[in-house]
Amino acid sequence: MTKRRIYLDHAATTPVLPEVAEAMQPYLSGTFGNPSSLHWFGQEARRAVDAARDTIARILGADSSEIYFTSGGTESDNQALLGVTTALAEKGNHIITSTIEHQAVLQTAKILELRGLDVTYINVNPDGLIDPKDIEKAIAEKTILISVMHANNEIGVIQPLAEIARIATDRDVPLHTDAVQTVGHIPVNVDHLGVDLLSLSAHKFYGPKGIGVLYIRRGTRIVPLIQGGSQERQRRAGTENVPAIVGMAKALEIAQETMEKRGKEETELRDYFITTLKSQIPNAHLNGHPVKRLPNNINISFPNAEGELLLLKLDMEGIAVSSGSACSSGAIDPSHVLKALGLPPELTQSSLRLTLGRSTTKAHLDQTLQALTKILPH
Ligand code: PLP
Repeated sequence: MTKRRIYLDHAATTPVLPEVAEAMQPYLSGTFGNPSSLHWFGQEARRAVDAARDTIARILGADSSEIYFTSGGTESDNQALLGVTTALAEKGNHIITSTIEHQAVLQTAKILELRGLDVTYINVNPDGLIDPKDIEKAIAEKTILISVMHANNEIGVIQPLAEIARIATDRDVPLHTDAVQTVGHIPVNVDHLGVDLLSLSAHKFYGPKGIGVLYIRRGTRIVPLIQGGSQERQRRAGTENVPAIVGMAKALEIAQETMEKRGKEETELRDYFITTLKSQIPNAHLNGHPVKRLPNNINISFPNAEGELLLLKLDMEGIAVSSGSACSSGAIDPSHVLKALGLPPELTQSSLRLTLGRSTTKAHLDQTLQALTKILPH
């Protein structure tokens, strides 16, 4: 008998919902036109792209003219950092970000450093939170961009972005946020957050992979990363991925409608898992703030265990999770996020991330708890 597989890795990616696939279907072959074409085929595709843009803008509290389609979170982050710093090069050469950003931001920041820019990396407290005062202190005359993620992909900690935005606005510095883990999961409104640029990615909220958005507030100066045709008001060249754009808008609509209910259910399941785990395995250590975290995120370290080994053992039990540490050429490479929390090696090397989703049940979590007690070293 084949065992049922349990998927607890929704922060990595989510399945496309059947309603989303259905919405995309007509644009794969029937309505296949190029939105730039002036004939009927093209104009029908154009209407679908425009409607998707309107839906996404409405949900984010933005204007449709501020929504730019990209190939996903990575491109949006690259575009934000490279585009704004290039546009504002005459104004300054300093940016501020955090030590716990996704590699899409950190690697881009490294490129900027190679180009001679100064980058300040703000560290987090042991709960994974940034102190907005640290950002305030880091702002200098030559600061041209602040980039702070909305919620972290490993530990799920939600940053005090609105407070950071007030400081950025006061000092007239554009603020970008990587909201890839929050859009579709917790309320995200560009005005409430006070951001100038925001990255999102559809495959994190039950939409297709390879499609995302960069929100760019009107008036923000930015240079395009991808050169070519005049699509996306000359800010992102390349023929639009029409089916994926339509699917992303549908997925976001559904995510918005179901957000409150899903959030409550996932929070309950998350807290049930954490409480039960701690009663069964008292030395298990929860990473990140216990409450200021995404409803679906559990990140736990098990002293004396090895994260990647636990992941592989759980996989053999039919349970898919993720680990903070990767074993590269025999050495354990701990996550930069867990290191930033100031955790000792026995905790940075022994972490598992479990991220819940629409299909997660209490029975899945009970089975996972049982499997963990079985495979953990005694
Ligand atoms: N930023 C964060 C916080 C993420 O979690 C991810 C995906 O894992 C990305 C950016 C990259 O997004 P994409 O997979 O759409 O390129």
